[in-house]
Amino acid sequence: MSLKKEQKIKRLRRKALLPRVISIILVDIILASGAVFFGVLAVLSMFTDTLVHHYKSCNAVVQIVNDYLADEDALFDKIIEIEKRSDAIGTVYLVDDDFNVINSFDNEKIDFKKEFSIFEAKRNLDKNGIFRNEVEEFEDILIAVENLNINFLNIYSLLFKKEILDEAIESVRSPTGWFALKTENGGVNVCIKTAYPVYSTTYNMLALIELCIVAVILSTGIYELKKIIFYIIEQRKVSKLVYTDIVTGGNNKEFFIKKAAKHIKKNQNYILIQLRLEKYRNYCTAYGVKEGEDLLEDLYNDLASLINSKELVAHLEKADFALLLNSDTDEKIEERVNSILKALGDARQNQHLLFSVGICRVETRRDDVENLLTSSGLAITKRSESANNIVWFDTSMKEEQVWERHIEDDMEKALENHEFTVYLQPKYSTKEEVLSAAEALVRWIHPELGFINPGKFIPIFERNGFILKLDDYMLDEVAKQQAKWMQQGKKLVPISVNVSRAHFARYDLAEHICSIVDAYQVPHEYIELELTESAFFDDKSALLETVKQLKNFGFKVSMDDFGAGYSSLNSLKELPLDIIKLDAEFFRGADDLERSNLIVGDTISLAKKLGMQIVAEGIETREQVDFLAKQNCDLIQGFYFAKPLPINEFEERAYGKTEIPQA
Ligand code: C2E
Ligand code: MG
Ligand code: MG
Repeated sequence: MSLKKEQKIKRLRRKALLPRVISIILVDIILASGAVFFGVLAVLSMFTDTLVHHYKSCNAVVQIVNDYLADEDALFDKIIEIEKRSDAIGTVYLVDDDFNVINSFDNEKIDFKKEFSIFEAKRNLDKNGIFRNEVEEFEDILIAVENLNINFLNIYSLLFKKEILDEAIESVRSPTGWFALKTENGGVNVCIKTAYPVYSTTYNMLALIELCIVAVILSTGIYELKKIIFYIIEQRKVSKLVYTDIVTGGNNKEFFIKKAAKHIKKNQNYILIQLRLEKYRNYCTAYGVKEGEDLLEDLYNDLASLINSKELVAHLEKADFALLLNSDTDEKIEERVNSILKALGDARQNQHLLFSVGICRVETRRDDVENLLTSSGLAITKRSESANNIVWFDTSMKEEQVWERHIEDDMEKALENHEFTVYLQPKYSTKEEVLSAAEALVRWIHPELGFINPGKFIPIFERNGFILKLDDYMLDEVAKQQAKWMQQGKKLVPISVNVSRAHFARYDLAEHICSIVDAYQVPHEYIELELTESAFFDDKSALLETVKQLKNFGFKVSMDDFGAGYSSLNSLKELPLDIIKLDAEFFRGADDLERSNLIVGDTISLAKKLGMQIVAEGIETREQVDFLAKQNCDLIQGFYFAKPLPINEFEERAYGKTEIPQA
């Protein structure tokens, strides 16, 4: 998974979680403010209800005193009854204006003077200590409080009538306070010690509502919390799935990219290693895919056991593993890698496992892990060019890669636009030193990059298969040119074209070549085909078949670069070739000149005995020409005589002043 994808998933997850959390917070805020509102109402209601209750009860006592003052017994009975019945009335005293007790209905047998002076009947006793008529003065309060119970909005009026609220609070805080009220009989006042408050129905209802709301808040909170926890667990499971490699059960590439980026961000002192088990497909073919996957799992587990907690391992794809290891000197790192490889090998001595390793250093904390993986992967692909199976990445590899990309982007267009141009390098006869043949060599005249030598693009085309198109194009151009000269009555010389190894995958290669040349009706003897040495490694029988067919069609076939790399004398024995081109390397370097000359001499005489023609390539000096003349070499191709020339220059040289002698 790319980092972009990863970030996208993260964003989606965050997006999914965020509205949930926001909605929970909002719902809970709304519910909690509701609960607070109802709570405040309930408390206020409790205060005011108690107050109202006390006033109403005290007022009832005053009424009784007004009604029954004349009848002492009835008064006594009535007051005792109200004391018993009312939960608000504690003890009633009838006092004069100086607080002397006239009559007491004291069921508690308290010392009135003492108690009353301690509590001081604030309620309904004015500033001067005169009893008040509560019914008139308290009317406002009663109305406000009753309204409050009916209409909650009156909470505001209650809140602003601070004195009512204060009184209400006082009523609750000192529930056994005193009320001192006037009766209708002058000089007879009532002092009542109130009892503990009794909460009203409204208050109970509000408390119930409050409880319900709190319960709802709690349950929605818990329910939502549970949902979030499940959601997080689910996410964890999904993450685990996303970051687990299905083959090894360990970390996968996505995990590695994510985790390695975090490690590197903290500390760039790391190296990134890519380790490839070579010939994995071969292993699966021999033992089965299941065995192959088991092997990968074992290797993963071994690798995981060979690294420390600050390092990382992951299975990338196929038989590739990635490691993020602590950095050290190059030697120490190679030592460690070798010991890891040894441990992997030692654990499976009956299986011959071959590994390739690409190493890339982390340079900065901002290094991109995917780029590092690409780089270490690139280093692995260079293994074939290195004797060691551990290859360090260097920037030139990247430059090559970039170059390859440019070339591949432009090649098709270049072919259409005829940017590939035929250059002809003359081959001179050794004895007479006359132009007797030529080799067609491609040059790319790029509109932006200018003149590009084949060494810069032929290997790329050989890898990506485009060489098939290019070689066909070259053959076509050469045949066209030969036909043109033929029509002009010029005496043709054989021109060789290079045929890459990839062509030999075609069973009808000979017919294919024939059809291209025949389109211009050029006699086949004027077209020669140079096979590179690498072609001789492939299917020998197919190659032999094609060479035979080409010869039957009358084409000349040569072996290019003989002596370079791994050419074998066997090829000379097995293939009925017409020409051998001695590689330029024979003639380079002064150190072993004698030995080279010896080999060249013997190869020439061997080829002669096999009836083959010899061309020496890369000849640059007079001495070389003289030596080759002595050795009976047939033709010489090299800068000594001519470099590869554009067609018009070649034409000038071949058909200009000096005509080619008749063969
Ligand atoms: P090659 O087929 O062995 O071509 C000979 C190379 O040696 C040419 O390099 C030529 O310019 C160079 N050469 C000739 N004489 C001398 C000399 O005296 N000194 C030095 N230093 N070099 C000399 P060039 O043109 O760069 O081509 C390189 C290779 O690219 C060719 O090696 C051939 O393998 C490949 N190539 C070129 N054109 C084509 C093509 O159209 N198709 C294919 N398949 N390969 C081609
Ligand atoms: Mg060649
Ligand atoms: Mg050559």
